[in-house]
Amino acid sequence: MKIVKLHDLYFKELLSKKEVAQIVKRMVATVKKDLPEGEVPLFIGILNGCFVFAADFIRAFNADCEISFVKLASYEGTSSTDKVKKLIGINEDISGRTVVILEDIIDTGTTLQEIYEIFKTKKLKQLKIATLFFKPEVYKKELPIDYIGKNIEDAFIVGYGLDYNGYGRNLPAVYQLTTQPKMKNIVLFGPPGAGKGTQATILKDKYNLVHISTGDVFRFNIKNETELGLLAKKYIDGGDLVPDEVTINMLKAEIEKNVGVNGFIFDGFPRTESQAEALDQFLLEKGERINGMVALEVPENLLVERILERGKTSGRSDDNDEEKIKNRFNEYNTKTAVLKDFYEERGSYYGIDGVGSINEITARLSEVFDKL
Ligand code: AMP
Repeated sequence: MKIVKLHDLYFKELLSKKEVAQIVKRMVATVKKDLPEGEVPLFIGILNGCFVFAADFIRAFNADCEISFVKLASYEGTSSTDKVKKLIGINEDISGRTVVILEDIIDTGTTLQEIYEIFKTKKLKQLKIATLFFKPEVYKKELPIDYIGKNIEDAFIVGYGLDYNGYGRNLPAVYQLTTQPKMKNIVLFGPPGAGKGTQATILKDKYNLVHISTGDVFRFNIKNETELGLLAKKYIDGGDLVPDEVTINMLKAEIEKNVGVNGFIFDGFPRTESQAEALDQFLLEKGERINGMVALEVPENLLVERILERGKTSGRSDDNDEEKIKNRFNEYNTKTAVLKDFYEERGSYYGIDGVGSINEITARLSEVFDKL
């Protein structure tokens, strides 16, 4: 999920889980390189925010080391408070040790000052400061910081241990505060013949949304013999997916045609993981997101009958031949079905029983649409 809601606020992805992992890995390498041969460092994490960073850091360290934690309050709400509570947790004798402080984020430097004050009296061999994130624009102190994972602008961030009023610490990626999304964007999902088009036509009016069916756009282009149509035709006729690049660019253009709308029902898109990622990213740039994937679940044997029945009147080149239909299911099962997991992982997959009358299914879908 590229946009998450915590309490009353929305946050958009700033760094993916993978990007954070790379930053941590680079930091570990630099800290390690600076340590004298054979030196066993004592890492001290500043709770609460650092616990995820510290856990990943020491596992990547991969040599003898110790870890301990201290606690200093730093944040209340979304603005850094100037008051820092006193340190809790250092009981052991740490004199003569090389201590590396692990901080999740340094902004004004108030907490850092407190850390310097406290450790000054501990007769350490050396004290190093390592922070995953640093906000250069708001840093007010002259105190040295030895290792910085990444400089970030002055925005409130959550995830990877950092919270907003207690929530968000468990998010694997890092998110920054954003404005509330305005649109309702729903992916209507399901295998070929599940009834996506029929239902989208009804629901777009009911919820005042724009219906984008990539299949319809392709067919329109084929009919009008556009360049895109000619390109797509050979894939569609065989029941194969049109290549991602072509489809993604076409979808973006369709979205761009509809400025200021309430939202979209995406029907037949995304159909591959890279289409889903591209859609997420494209919406993110607009401060928007997919509210949910609503899937029509229908057994395959019923679908083939439905498609052949539809083929009698639809005039679709891919509806009238069992071999082509089989291939469409094969494409669905090998490339598209995985998207259920993609959205389920984000907690935004809603499966609906797709067997029943049109009205019954509209009612089931509406229940989910109302919630999203
Ligand atoms: P549909 O009308 O959704 O069943 O789509 C009909 C055909 O259009 C598919 O079998 C594909 O060949 C092509 N198509 C539609 N949407 C996509 C997509 N998102 N990615 C690739 N091919 C697509």
